[in-house]
Amino acid sequence: VTAPGGGAGDGLADARTAAEALDGRDPLSSFRGRFEIPDPQRIYLDGNSLGRLSSDVRRAIERAADDWATRAVEGWTDWIELPARVGDRLARSVLGARAGEVLIADSTTVNLYKLAHAAADLRPGPLVTDADNFPTDRYVLEGVARQRGRRYVEAESLNAAIEAAAAGVLCLSHVDYRTGALRPMAELTASTSSTDGLLVWDLSHSAGAVEIDLAATGAQLAVGCSYKYLNAGPGAPAYLYVHRDLVGELRSPIQGWFGRREQFSMGSGYEPADGIERFLAGTPPIAGIMAVDAAIGIVEEAGLARIAEKGRALTALAIERADAWLTVHGVEVRTPRQPAVRGHHVALAHPSAWQLARALIERADVVPDFRPPDILRLGFAPLTTSFVEAWDALDRLRRLLEDGAYRQVAAGTRRVT
Ligand SMILES: *Cc1c(COP(=O)(O)O)cnc(C)c1O
Repeated sequence: VTAPGGGAGDGLADARTAAEALDGRDPLSSFRGRFEIPDPQRIYLDGNSLGRLSSDVRRAIERAADDWATRAVEGWTDWIELPARVGDRLARSVLGARAGEVLIADSTTVNLYKLAHAAADLRPGPLVTDADNFPTDRYVLEGVARQRGRRYVEAESLNAAIEAAAAGVLCLSHVDYRTGALRPMAELTASTSSTDGLLVWDLSHSAGAVEIDLAATGAQLAVGCSYKYLNAGPGAPAYLYVHRDLVGELRSPIQGWFGRREQFSMGSGYEPADGIERFLAGTPPIAGIMAVDAAIGIVEEAGLARIAEKGRALTALAIERADAWLTVHGVEVRTPRQPAVRGHHVALAHPSAWQLARALIERADVVPDFRPPDILRLGFAPLTTSFVEAWDALDRLRRLLEDGAYRQVAAGTRRVT
């Protein structure tokens, strides 16, 4: 291990040694070995976009194939229970929700569509989100508003969003996908309720990363994906949450047979199932749900308190290095500095953020991502990212900024950034 030299002041070796020491006493360090990391030199800081494959999840997918091969259609006697059973496990271990409040189903996009429509049945007002929310959330709400002949509002601040959502439906991300800001769930839920709005939380960037307590915060509705910090795999099924007092009042806009009471009576007419299962639509993706089940198992073993704590420490290290090395090069830290109000990625704003992201990938063996217009996003997945990796990634970014090598990256666009 060599300390980088040149231009960044004294104490660098010490600082890296400090990162090594953090790894040395990291209670989660052994979890990295549970994941498949074919190229350990490459520093993967995109686990907030697609988490890595664990051997547990690989085995779960193989088991699903075995199950299918050996049991064929008989498998449905057990598979049919999986959306609610794995939902209960996610509720208990990750979301702080109660049994019967969570279902594994569909994608986050489709689940938001279902809950936004269902919520709009109960509230006559506009459909609202904040202008910075994740694109699919904005598009879905806009579409639901159009279908229902309602007003759609993209508010410029959280306060404006809550105000606009009086007697309407509001959707907010728990952790902002660009800045990494973590929103106070209890407080915002209470303010939305005080004007009779219904709030749908998007937990995509917080589930499996920070401690969530849907029950204690009084959250009414939520959706989220399982392939970011939960590491269930690309396109793994998402989840939805409905507070138990609300579920009987809500109807899915997709009247599929899996959401019907006594599905296999195949009777005429649609009547929703009693519980959360009314939000199922069609045949659930069994292999994917088995992957989610295994992925939750790893989070249970690691413990969300420890995961959250390590995430705060990794982002603290990154922010500290950014302050020490990068701000002189025009980089601005856009992520909140108080650990309690951020998720596990750090947003660094720079006019050449896109080039910096490409240069990190092509020349520095670091995988971040870019979010328009000017955000370089570094995601720190506590189960797979080490403190030394965080340190080295910031160090490599420092070098790119110092020698200007990122300017040689060919301008251009790629479909996936
Ligand atoms: C990743 C993410 C999604 C993903 O939605 P999909 O339907 O899985 O494509 C939705 N919302 C937020 C806030 C996200 O970060």
